[in-house]
Amino acid sequence: MKGPQRRRRPVWCSWHDGLSDTAFLVRVHDGAASGPNGGLLYACARCREQYGLTPLTERAT
Ligand SMILES: [Zn+2]
Repeated sequence: MKGPQRRRRPVWCSWHDGLSDTAFLVRVHDGAASGPNGGLLYACARCREQYGLTPLTERAT
């Protein structure tokens, strides 16, 4: 049996185009990147460090 061991479910990192369970929402300050989320994209921990992205502190429950 599988238990709910993972608190976070993988989300799509828009920077390396792949799923990651360390991804957080970041705000993109590029007008051309305005998507359905209004410039909010998910970036994983590695991409945030590489590109100097600041994750939003919003907590979705
Ligand atoms: Zn990534």
